Amino acid sequence: MKTNPKILLIYTGGTIGMVKDPNTGALQPFSFEELLKNIPELKQLDCTLTSVSFDHPIDSSDMNPEGWVTLATMIEDHYETCDGFVVLHGTDTMSYSGSALSFMLENLTKPVIFTGSQLPIDNINTDAKENLITSIQIAALQHNGKPAIQEVGLYFKNKLYRANRTTKISAKHRKAFASPNYSLLAASEIHLEIDFPKLWKTSPNGPLRVCKKMHDRVVILKLFPGLDEVTLQAVLSIPGLKALVLETYGAGNAPTVPWLLNGLEKAIENGIHIINVTQCSGGSVAMGYYEAGEGLRAIQLISGEDITTEAAVTKALYLLGSKVPHEEFKHRFETPLRGEMLSRIMH
Ligand code: ASP
Repeated sequence: MKTNPKILLIYTGGTIGMVKDPNTGALQPFSFEELLKNIPELKQLDCTLTSVSFDHPIDSSDMNPEGWVTLATMIEDHYETCDGFVVLHGTDTMSYSGSALSFMLENLTKPVIFTGSQLPIDNINTDAKENLITSIQIAALQHNGKPAIQEVGLYFKNKLYRANRTTKISAKHRKAFASPNYSLLAASEIHLEIDFPKLWKTSPNGPLRVCKKMHDRVVILKLFPGLDEVTLQAVLSIPGLKALVLETYGAGNAPTVPWLLNGLEKAIENGIHIINVTQCSGGSVAMGYYEAGEGLRAIQLISGEDITTEAAVTKALYLLGSKVPHEEFKHRFETPLRGEMLSRIMH
């Protein structure tokens, strides 16, 4: 049993470490050392903490694929020497970053836990302390001599989720995240209760490998009553567009008007991957269950099953970045890679 595990804290920015600008009153990121000063309890933890920080901590609204590469590279650089990783990140795009990292970190066998807070660390009512302290404890947790968690998680308000299953649901409540289609990995009650059968069973085929190419042109289009052909065509004509995540209604349904199906079919023929995800917060795409979804199935839209939009976009970027052959993209997308979607076989 490993004692005194070594945990790397990676500070990217976010409310957790923000202070008010004296001139404007707006919250802006501040230094990591300041953040640590506000949590003296960290010294009591049964692990060795080291930290690295983004050169310029950001509001997570500024996160982008280059930021994910920076983050993944920091994990790669410390992978051999550390037992677990805690990423401090703004909540606004945390589900995107958690999803992206889950794909980029191939053969991951150590915990990477994203966390943050709704209130800054120096606020008397802050949620930052509990979120950070428990995230570190989770990252340090060992089971049968190995890290208990071997995937990318997101810990917030007493709950550990699989990061690529989460979505931000509130800008107001302390419970900022939900995982509508996959149950919790752990809950922090009086003790930490881990739901072991729910954890990702990693099957590495080599050492950690990091995908560092995550930028290709992908776009999200949400259907709404009133979407017209001009708008659809404008989106499909974006130069260099490689993939479109189409947020459809309910179980993967769309209007049955010919311009929509014809426009999408033409785009697929032109090499654009079109992924059907539901705009409902829970449930799954089941193209063909309704007449309104049958047309999409017939033109071979990719089924996102019960994937979140956040995971769909980042999975598309990852597969494109990994140079998956065009004809294999649909099959690869429809195959779960990191527990981000239900396997069809289980239906
Ligand atoms: N705007 C902040 C961010 O995402 C909000 C937060 O940290 O919760 O960086």
